Amino acid sequence: MSFERDHYDAVVVGAGPNGLAAAITLKRKFRSVLLVEAKETVGGGTRSAELTLPGFIHDVCSAVQPLALSSPFFRQLELHRYGLEWIHPEIPLAHPFGDGEALCLHRSLEATADLLGPDGRAYREMLQPFVENHERLLSDVLKPLPLPENPILMARFGLKALRTARNLAEAKFRGAQTRALFAGLAAHAMIPLEKPATAAFGILLAVLAHGVGWPVVKGGSQKLAEALAACFRESGGEIRTGVEVRAMGDLPRAERYVFDVTPRQLLTIEGLGISEGYRAKLSRFRYGPGVCKSDWALAGPIPWKADACRRAGTVHLGGSLEEIGAAIRDAHEGRTCPAPYVVLAQQSLCDPTRAPAGRHTAWAYCHVPHGSPEDMTPVIEERIERLAPGFRALILARSSMPATAMERHNANYVGGDINGGVQDLRQLYSRPVLSLFPYRTSQKNIYICSSSTPPGGGVHGLCGYYAARGL
Ligand SMILES: Cc1cc2nc3c(=O)[nH]c(=O)nc-3n(C[C@H](O)[C@H](O)[C@H](O)COP(=O)(O)OP(=O)(O)OC[C@H]3O[C@@H](n4cnc5c(N)ncnc54)[C@H](O)[C@@H]3O)c2cc1C
Repeated sequence: MSFERDHYDAVVVGAGPNGLAAAITLKRKFRSVLLVEAKETVGGGTRSAELTLPGFIHDVCSAVQPLALSSPFFRQLELHRYGLEWIHPEIPLAHPFGDGEALCLHRSLEATADLLGPDGRAYREMLQPFVENHERLLSDVLKPLPLPENPILMARFGLKALRTARNLAEAKFRGAQTRALFAGLAAHAMIPLEKPATAAFGILLAVLAHGVGWPVVKGGSQKLAEALAACFRESGGEIRTGVEVRAMGDLPRAERYVFDVTPRQLLTIEGLGISEGYRAKLSRFRYGPGVCKSDWALAGPIPWKADACRRAGTVHLGGSLEEIGAAIRDAHEGRTCPAPYVVLAQQSLCDPTRAPAGRHTAWAYCHVPHGSPEDMTPVIEERIERLAPGFRALILARSSMPATAMERHNANYVGGDINGGVQDLRQLYSRPVLSLFPYRTSQKNIYICSSSTPPGGGVHGLCGYYAARGL
């Protein structure tokens, strides 16, 4: 394998959002930086492709990007200069119920609270201080160490966030539908709603909806990866795709190596020279349930019974708090749930570049046991059809990716786990190991920067940024 140089100041392995962020940050500090990617395109979890039919652009993994839009690091980069455009759906999120009704999160906190009837006041009071200070809150929450710059705000957040999602929803809200809306948000944690700190995910996703919105990238999430790559190249960085690193011998010599991979993959790379003690710690890193992902090319928009769903970018299909809770618990405990909780996005409603004129795309996933080969697409379609009769008749083509296919698409999705490892209280800040600088391995010039490090899963690039900043 030939590279432009035989020696670099830094080499980054893996061009997901964290690898790209690490490479950009390192290039600001050092002269020669190489970014190496196993697949033919950069992006990792921010790739898009014509998965179904020509002219239909699907987000292969991430689709809805509030974390990217609010990322303090991405904001510095002025990515619009490299072609990045955000598009906001009319309504960030809708949560339908069987009878044609739906609750939704509007951009406006007030408008959302007004929908919640007797729960509106509690909802407003719970979120207002965080929505008003969302930039300060997010910059503290999305940080490696719990050393907040805004301790009073963080203490206030912590009091609610550390509770279980179920307990917070039941204590704050009387209405079954409001509780379900909150449960659908908290379920993104992919851990049972009775576990401590699951409330944090529910609160944060609501704060993001009201503070910045839940946008998609015009033309597909791939455009975000391309903008990051263009930013890196413009600063003089070098990118090599199609190079799967199996051993240190596959890479040129460098002063430091930063890996955008998860612990299990790092352990398979030959010649790292990491200690037995560190190896043992990494091998105890815990992965979570997987996802099964489905995409559709559609002859028209999904004919939801509930009007709000026809205008929403994201739709949560899960029913009540109890039903969502049972679905998450099943996946967590290794059972396939017959009525899974489904996260669905309909990007083409607000971004017409995703499909030919008059046609549409839809994207969805549900949680499944770790490593499950099961194709849940028929079950997901059944769920949608019940809430949107006529959906199936619109399907022109479909693509299914069970958890095992997800891992083949991207080695970082071990067993289909899209968060780079369980994000429970125990493993939130101690990812991949408990340390003041968790990006460092036992080998002095080898670092790790994937979502298996703080602040964890999602497209924000902050794992890569904080890892590289500390070198
Ligand atoms: C179905 C699905 C839906 C999601 N939805 C959202 C969403 O809507 N919003 C959101 O914020 N997040 C979402 N996510 C999560 C998000 O995609 C990830 O958290 C994020 O991409 C993690 O970034 P990363 O850089 O750590 O790793 P990745 O994006 O996984 O990138 C890792 C890169 O490293 C490369 N690599 C791995 N091993 C090697 C090797 N040995 N040699 C060379 N290269 C290697 C891989 O090919 C890959 O390109 C979703 C994920 C999935 C799968």
